[in-house]
Amino acid sequence: MNGVVTISIEVELGWGFHDIGGPKRLSDQCVEERKYLKKLLHKCDEVGIPISFDVVGHLALNECDGTHEGHYPADWFANDPGTNFETNPDFYAPDMIAAIAASNVGHELCTHTFSHVLCDRMGDDCVNDDIAHAQQIHETHFGKKSVSFVPPRHFEPTATVLRENGIEIVRKSIHTDTGNKVNRFFELLIAPPLLNEPQLVEGVVETYCTSYQSLTASSLPIGQRETHAVFKPIPRSLRQQLHLRRMETDLKAVVENDGYAHFWCHLWDLSNEHQWGVVEPFLDMLATYRDTEGLQVLTMAELNDHVRAQHATGVELMEGING
Ligand SMILES: [Zn+2]
Ligand SMILES: [Zn+2]
Repeated sequence: MNGVVTISIEVELGWGFHDIGGPKRLSDQCVEERKYLKKLLHKCDEVGIPISFDVVGHLALNECDGTHEGHYPADWFANDPGTNFETNPDFYAPDMIAAIAASNVGHELCTHTFSHVLCDRMGDDCVNDDIAHAQQIHETHFGKKSVSFVPPRHFEPTATVLRENGIEIVRKSIHTDTGNKVNRFFELLIAPPLLNEPQLVEGVVETYCTSYQSLTASSLPIGQRETHAVFKPIPRSLRQQLHLRRMETDLKAVVENDGYAHFWCHLWDLSNEHQWGVVEPFLDMLATYRDTEGLQVLTMAELNDHVRAQHATGVELMEGING
C-alpha cells in the first residue's frame, strides 16, 4: 500500500442554508451546480476516480407537502417549499442523485442527513429521527442503507446515534484556526496538509479532514460568491497554481508516509470555472499518482472496510504476541 486518498463532496443545495438564509451561494434553480456535477461525473468516469457524494436525503424526493414527522423544532421545515422538482430544483434533485448512481466508477451515495440537521445542537431524538429518515430514503431509492455519514457543518453526532442507525464511518473535521488572521490567510491560501490516520472509536471509524474546504481553494471565488477581498491582490492564476501545488505536496506526503488524506468541499463551492480550474487538474494528478505510485483512492465506505481489516489484522497480531 502507498497511501490512501478519499474525496467527499456535500450535495445539499437549498438544504445547506434553509435554517440560516444569508448571502446567495447557489445559482438560480441550481443550474450551475447541475452543470458542474455533470462535468465532475464525466471527469471521474474518464480517470476512474470514485467519490463519496454526501447527499441530503430530501433531495431524492420528487415532491413533498412541506411537512415531515419527527422530533424537529417547530419551524425546522419553514423553508421547505412543499412543492416538487419542476418548481424547486434547489430542494428536490432526484436527477442529480440518479446521475451519480448511474456512473460506473463506484461513487458512493453517503448520507448527509435527511434535512441537514445540526448534530450536537438539536438533540439526539431529532438527529436520530433525521438520520433514520435518511436511511429509509437510501433503502428505498438506492437499495441499501448508507454505512457512511458526513455531519452538516461539522457538528459531531454521538457514536451511539450513528451505530443505532447503521453508520460505520463518519467524517470528522480537525479545527486548525488559531484566531490569528495572518496565519489563517496563509492557511487558506496554501491549505497545509492534514494527514491524520483514520481511527476506530467506539465502534465507528473516524476519517479526518480540515474544517475548511480542501478540494476547492478558499482563495478563489466560491460558488456564486466573490473572492474574499484579502486574496484579490494576488493574481487568480497564481492562486490556482498555489492550491494545486499544495495538493501535490499532500499527495507526495501521503505516498511517502503510506498515509491518509481526505479532501472535501460542497458541490456549490466548485461550481464555477475558477474552482473547476483546480479540481479538474487535481483529478488528473490524483490518477497519475494512483497509476505510478500505487496510491489508492477509496470512498468512505471502502475506507471503512480498509480500516476495519487493518484493525482486525492488528488485533490478531497482538493476540499472537500475547498468546
Ligand atoms: Zn419536504
Ligand atoms: Zn452540508
